[in-house]
Amino acid sequence: MQTHILGFPRIGANREHKRLLEAYWRGQATRQDLLDMGQELRRRHWTIQAKAGLTHVTTGDFSLYDHVLDTSLMLGAIPERFLTTDQPDLDTYFCMARGDAERNVPALDMTKWFNTNYHYMVPEISAAPLKSGSQTIVRDTLQALDLGCSAKPVLLGPITYLSLAKGVKGFDPWNKLDEVLNRYTHVLDKLRPLCSWIQIDEPILCADMSPAARAAFPHAYKILNQAGAKLLLTTYFDALDDNMDLALTSGCAGLHTDLTRGARALDSILKGLPREMTLSVGIVDGRNIWKTDLDRALRTLDIVHAGLGADRIMLASSCSLLHTPVDLELETALPKELKGWMAFAVQKCAELRLLARAMNGEDCAAELEANAISMRSRRQSPQVTIAAVRERCARVDEKMTRRNAPYPARKNAQSWLGLPLLPTTTIGSFPQTPEIRKQRSLFRNGDITTQDYEASMRDEINKVVGIQEDLGLDVLVHGEAERNDMVEYFGQQLDGFCFTANGWVQSYGSRCVKPPIIHGDIDRPMPMTVKWITYAQSLTKKTMKGMLTGPVTIMCWSFVRDDMERAEVCRQLALAIRQEVTDLEKAGIRIIQIDEAAFSEGMPIKSRDKGAYLEWAVENFRLATSGVADSTQIHSHMCYSEFNDIVQSIAAMDADVISIESSRSGMELLEAFREYSYPNEIGPGIYDIHSPRVPSVEEMENLLGRALEFIPKERLWVNPDCGLKTRDWPETLASLRNMVEAARRVRASL
Ligand code: GLN
Ligand code: ZN
Repeated sequence: MQTHILGFPRIGANREHKRLLEAYWRGQATRQDLLDMGQELRRRHWTIQAKAGLTHVTTGDFSLYDHVLDTSLMLGAIPERFLTTDQPDLDTYFCMARGDAERNVPALDMTKWFNTNYHYMVPEISAAPLKSGSQTIVRDTLQALDLGCSAKPVLLGPITYLSLAKGVKGFDPWNKLDEVLNRYTHVLDKLRPLCSWIQIDEPILCADMSPAARAAFPHAYKILNQAGAKLLLTTYFDALDDNMDLALTSGCAGLHTDLTRGARALDSILKGLPREMTLSVGIVDGRNIWKTDLDRALRTLDIVHAGLGADRIMLASSCSLLHTPVDLELETALPKELKGWMAFAVQKCAELRLLARAMNGEDCAAELEANAISMRSRRQSPQVTIAAVRERCARVDEKMTRRNAPYPARKNAQSWLGLPLLPTTTIGSFPQTPEIRKQRSLFRNGDITTQDYEASMRDEINKVVGIQEDLGLDVLVHGEAERNDMVEYFGQQLDGFCFTANGWVQSYGSRCVKPPIIHGDIDRPMPMTVKWITYAQSLTKKTMKGMLTGPVTIMCWSFVRDDMERAEVCRQLALAIRQEVTDLEKAGIRIIQIDEAAFSEGMPIKSRDKGAYLEWAVENFRLATSGVADSTQIHSHMCYSEFNDIVQSIAAMDADVISIESSRSGMELLEAFREYSYPNEIGPGIYDIHSPRVPSVEEMENLLGRALEFIPKERLWVNPDCGLKTRDWPETLASLRNMVEAARRVRASL
């Protein structure tokens, strides 16, 4: 059986990619340095795949920034505003990715790649003819051949590409289909003589496909297959479901299916797969860090084998390994037991090879036994199952997910807070100055004592409380100086979490994230925030808002255990946060914000699955927040501005107050809240915290005026779009001063 992966992480085992990219942007590395780095990383990644014994190494998966952007360059889909020279070069490329502030050229939009935390650059397709395209994929494939590898180039398929593209000035991207196909054919012609398989990614087949995309598909694949290359049509992130017919009749030589997320479709694939088609079986999960249960995988593969015979099967990762960290061996600080349960990209390559050997009847009993032992150790570990947590979860009843009284009655019960109309507040964090970061890092490295560290954090709280009082804000925050990150901070204080030293994955461009790992049942041994928040409250007569991260967001930004439903993991988190919320209330904190910045990120790919997700996500938010008296005010914050489809779910969360990101949309998004008669209070962000620009009083007065057209004055709050941790103090002070003044003026006019 042949083996391959759908793609390798690009960032390098030590984030070499990030370092050099950023050095280049700062002018401290040359174009040649960058190209050399790319070549070196590709060489290393192919060597890893070849050494693992995979049949093919993947080429064309490396990117200096983003593979969707690379596809735009390959096709010559370069918007006019980026074309300052006849020959698009590296700077054109980075300008498309990042814009050019000096010349006032905005970058392409960036958005989430399906339901992952990877972000791609949205292609812009206009009526203008395509420019000349680049063919780095041919160059890369030749390099892999030079190393003596069997190369399998990967292309992003035309149907997914155009589905993700946005039309410029009303132009319908599908009108460009034939021109685009022409470019693909050209590239396929070049690649065909170099390799046996060409992987063509069409994850859109596993998502909601538009009628236009469905209609274009058969035509597109007829043309592409005319090029005579052996195409492996790769689908992932879900089952094919309604688009199964398209995949099975595509005429491609192979089909890849994701069995980790789309196993339910296996039967119909085995029944319907045309005789001449090979099946690539995505059996090793490309989106998490867990070892594959080889025994289970082999049982699945036996079924596939019985249906198709060995010649027609390839073993593969479920999707590209882009979404996993590079090498587990670099983790020297992870507890040995936990490390024994994990596999990163390098280890996943080895798993594939082992599966193939087992399927070929080679003797690998020792390795399989080792895997079985590690699976057993995980199942039986007291780190994984905590009886008290299971009991607590089983005892959750519907009443625990409801506040005592409905919002209107709560509003009365909360009048004791004595807030004015249009109350002003902030989202939680204040600037994380170099001094704060230094204190945290000294503490982490054991260079200062706990007492010294805590004293310096209290100084910081003193400072921000004083500043907020001077500014005249109505509801204060403690500023979050003690938090490195809104998820990691909580994970570090909860049982069931562990952390890697180097488990980075690419989020976009040079930006990487290091998600915490949820390996076991989640328990909160001790209060997490009460000490800081009550200290902050002790400094002021105004109401101090307690600040927590919500269960859905903690889950969405972590690697989640694969032995439990996500809804259940989320419920455990919700119960832990609920304990914190009630402890805060007991300690006298009467406004508590539970951030759900990533609420919509957990959304499944297909519309028909969204309802079920929203239901448990909302329920778990409510479980986390409903343990308080009616007179305690619950806030939530969502870094998000696409609410059209989810206003009803946001309403069902039943927070007394939500704050959302909205300044850049000029309040237009409030339309959806009006349309669905959103019943509770809202603070639409009235200034963009992503930029150092200080908005004027008039500008914010205008936005508040606009907001009042949608939201009655009794239910409108005044706040920035998001937390201020990435800003500097001068612009923060100036902006907040103007914001408070704008609120005052509008209030006076009511
Ligand atoms: N409370 C957090 C902050 O202010 C919220 C951050 C976020 O929504 N991403 O930083
Ligand atoms: Zn936010």
